[in-house]
Amino acid sequence: MVFEGLANRLQDTFNRLRGKGKLSESDVKEAMREVRLALLEADVNFKVVKEFVEKVRERAVGQEVLQSLTPAQQVIKIVNDELTQLMGGSQAKIAQAAKPPTVVMMVGLQGAGKTTTTGKLAQFLKKQGKYPLLVAGDVYRPAAIKQLQILGEQLKTPVFSMGDQVSPVDIAKAALEHARVHGFDYVLIDTAGRLHIDEALMNELKMVKDAVNPHEILLVVDAMTGQDAVQVADTFHKELEVTGAILTKLDGDTRGGAALSIRAVTGTPIKFAGMGEKLDALEPFHPDRMASRILG
Ligand code: GDP
Repeated sequence: MVFEGLANRLQDTFNRLRGKGKLSESDVKEAMREVRLALLEADVNFKVVKEFVEKVRERAVGQEVLQSLTPAQQVIKIVNDELTQLMGGSQAKIAQAAKPPTVVMMVGLQGAGKTTTTGKLAQFLKKQGKYPLLVAGDVYRPAAIKQLQILGEQLKTPVFSMGDQVSPVDIAKAALEHARVHGFDYVLIDTAGRLHIDEALMNELKMVKDAVNPHEILLVVDAMTGQDAVQVADTFHKELEVTGAILTKLDGDTRGGAALSIRAVTGTPIKFAGMGEKLDALEPFHPDRMASRILG
């Protein structure tokens, strides 16, 4: 379970704090030291941890908190608030164009779960009564087009493909035209991923972006890769100005560092969380619910 280790450690810290009754400034300091270590152990970005703990400490040593009847409870509430803020505050929803179709470009490194997530997103949109078109724009990975077509069949959702001999830019343009003519609400463009970020990949993604002017560029990152995922998000954001991240494999045994760091490091909100391999295992990302999961 994501955040399990972090949740356990914070619960120990806060139980000790509750046991004390009245709190002194040094009690708070001691608790903050523990919070800091717990976050670092959960693989949260070092700078993010530092700023977070400082913010919480400042609020927690305030007169009103220490002199209240339930100081420990107040400190926990502050941690809860700040964790929620750290992950973006309120839920960041997927864009919807004033005039359909809404164009969504899916980007990410190979293996992050981009193609699967594109299918999951189509399913999510369909459940909301939308009519999405899947676009097979990854022309380099031999199985990618086939994979998307199979997903399309499972989801009973049309897949736009021009094979692997046409440039991704031309595919994206033609797909958009096709969507306009046929009244699709959303165009979900699966793009090529590589094992590593390289200039050729970025240039091509920029060309696709310039060609179709997406309302949303969603970066799919693997939560299991921890701070590497944050690094990847930072680079993609700088190059492409992504509008949101989707964190996959949060059902796995990840410590949660990526979930807690991505927003603070890159400024990009996490919009969805992948919670499994099945097509319905995609959830809108709720910062407050995630914080509650950590604090129990
Ligand atoms: P791509 O190369 O980025 O397009 O990655 P794929 O969509 O092919 O996914 C790579 C692997 O990750 C596949 O085995 C997926 O089933 C798996 N995967 C994707 N999202 C999730 C998720 O949220 N949880 C789990 N457990 N596996 C996932």
